[in-house]
Amino acid sequence: MIAHIEKDQCTGCGNCLAACPGGLLSLTGAEDVNRRGVRYAVLSDPSSCVECGQCELMCTAGAIRSGKEEGSGYALIRKEGIPPHGGCYLGTLTKVLADAAVHLGIEKDMVIFEKEASNINLDVETHSYNDDSFYADGLAYKVEHPEKLVILICASSKARSTAQFVERYAALRDETVTIVNTLNWFETTEILEGITAGGCHNLEELARTSSASFLARAGVRTPGEVRELARFVEKALHNQMAGKPFSVVEMLFPCLYRVGDRPQSLMPFEQVDRINAWFDACVAPDYEYKVYLDR
Ligand code: SF4
Ligand code: SF4
Repeated sequence: MIAHIEKDQCTGCGNCLAACPGGLLSLTGAEDVNRRGVRYAVLSDPSSCVECGQCELMCTAGAIRSGKEEGSGYALIRKEGIPPHGGCYLGTLTKVLADAAVHLGIEKDMVIFEKEASNINLDVETHSYNDDSFYADGLAYKVEHPEKLVILICASSKARSTAQFVERYAALRDETVTIVNTLNWFETTEILEGITAGGCHNLEELARTSSASFLARAGVRTPGEVRELARFVEKALHNQMAGKPFSVVEMLFPCLYRVGDRPQSLMPFEQVDRINAWFDACVAPDYEYKVYLDR
């Protein structure tokens, strides 16, 4: 199927523009906005679309359907009230989780614990947590419902909160759950100064000291990185289905929303490039994308 863009679902983030190998996608002019009040993506020459699916893979709002991939989770993505931040890569994670649910046939068994901000917008059982209790809540839920596949989404929107991972990891034993740590970074010196050990060395330590069955870290800014993230998430869920101890998948990305003009569709692309360059120089080198443990 040639790529179809749901106009009013689009947040105008522009992520799909760079992903299309034929450069077929563009944003409307500032005077042509959708129901969200933002410019939206359009396919300029449908006959040239090769149905590669790259745009759907990179869409941060579940707004594109290319129909290329078998078992796409597109239908599981909620079409209202999302995403909270246009262009937020948590929207990409939403798509990854939706696809995993469909590929593994676990739509009815998947249970998500996420922050009140409701960043993961899937039509599956979802519970919100507050920062102090969510590991405990999610783990207790798993004990009561061992047949469910429990995913704890830890959104560390404050760099300081990554330090809490040390304590949270230390509390884990043989629990059979899937943890997805989303590490989103802001480009401000003030916050960089507040960063402590955080997530960056924890996976190595966790691989040495815990009973985890799978530990991995992925990026999310290119189609290749998203595919790797999808593989890691499916692997973690496989382990949970097999009753193995917990898995942690970390996902790293710069938070474009916090440092750009709003709405995001008005952010100049040069600014996105600048933020990405900062991320590549200052953050990525300390956070290797790889499998840290697989047993
Ligand atoms: S499916 Fe591929 S070729 Fe078609 S619009 Fe999307 S990225 Fe471009
Ligand atoms: S939300 Fe972003 S990635 Fe999705 S169609 Fe709109 S501009 Fe493209």
